[in-house]
Amino acid sequence: MSSQLLSFTDRGIYCADGDFYIDPWRPVARALVTHGHSDHARWGHAQYLCTHQALPVIRHRLGDIRAEGIAYGETRQIGGVEVSFHPAGHVPGSAQIRIARRGEVWVVSGDYKVEADGLSEAFDPVRCHTFISECTFGLPLFRWQPQRLIAEQLAAWWQGNAAEGRTSILAAYGLGKAQRLMRLLPDAGPILTHGAVEETTRILRDQGYALPPTIRVSAGVDAKSHPGALVIAPPSALGTPWARRFGPAAEAFASGWMALRGIRRRRGLGTGFVISDHADWPGLNAAIRATGATRVFVTHGYTTPFRRWLEEQGYDAGIVQTEFGAEESDAAVEADPA
Ligand SMILES: [Zn+2]
Ligand SMILES: [Zn+2]
Repeated sequence: MSSQLLSFTDRGIYCADGDFYIDPWRPVARALVTHGHSDHARWGHAQYLCTHQALPVIRHRLGDIRAEGIAYGETRQIGGVEVSFHPAGHVPGSAQIRIARRGEVWVVSGDYKVEADGLSEAFDPVRCHTFISECTFGLPLFRWQPQRLIAEQLAAWWQGNAAEGRTSILAAYGLGKAQRLMRLLPDAGPILTHGAVEETTRILRDQGYALPPTIRVSAGVDAKSHPGALVIAPPSALGTPWARRFGPAAEAFASGWMALRGIRRRRGLGTGFVISDHADWPGLNAAIRATGATRVFVTHGYTTPFRRWLEEQGYDAGIVQTEFGAEESDAAVEADPA
């Protein structure tokens, strides 16, 4: 038996007693995966375990993998530990992972948000002794507005552009954010999608997630066929020939990073919608309090100031170096100079 239930290795967060990793970034024998974003669900592991809800997208993205699904709340013995997955509210299928060994409980949050988005399984705080928390937006300046207000802003933006005969291109990550936005938009005609967004949307719709109708952009689907349309595309599609088929369109990005004006300017965006699938400052603090944990490890974001803050609040706090946030999370916006 190792002394610490989870240890931090160069492959990822490791549980020796169960001989598994959580969201490892290098190939391992057994990976427990919190959700389908590409910085958490990586290729090359011999065996995967994730929620039933996360599995279809992960299979779609990683191809022919040996993977098994688990229900939220179902407990499973792996080696010397008991493991269960609990809703993280981040994207459909996303989970926090609870690991228990003879009364000692750790929870790895994965990415999470506290506000219920009406699509993802709502965040469910899990009591534990040690909590490993992401802190992508771990500064007091990050405070999200309720998503119904963002919905009003989106509707006004779209209607304004349509009145001027312009297409609205909204950039959002293909898993989670894109579908969340679809549900927030008014029912004002079909939403057009980039192929990368359409694929994930189709998979989630087939699973039973309630999503509005969408039309994949293809030959003949453009500003002429759908004047004043709203298009959802991955951020990488902005400013490309793909986007130019819509003529002089209005472009906007929906991300927590839009709270920082400098980032908005660097990306050449006049419009940014501040909406994130990560917890904001009050959300992080509320989530941590709700666990009842006395020890907190932070990862993924503003780790140094957030750790200091937690120490000031009386927590035994540490930082875990991980390789999350390198791809599809909101953090990628900051990393990506484009
Ligand atoms: Zn992440
Ligand atoms: Zn994520």
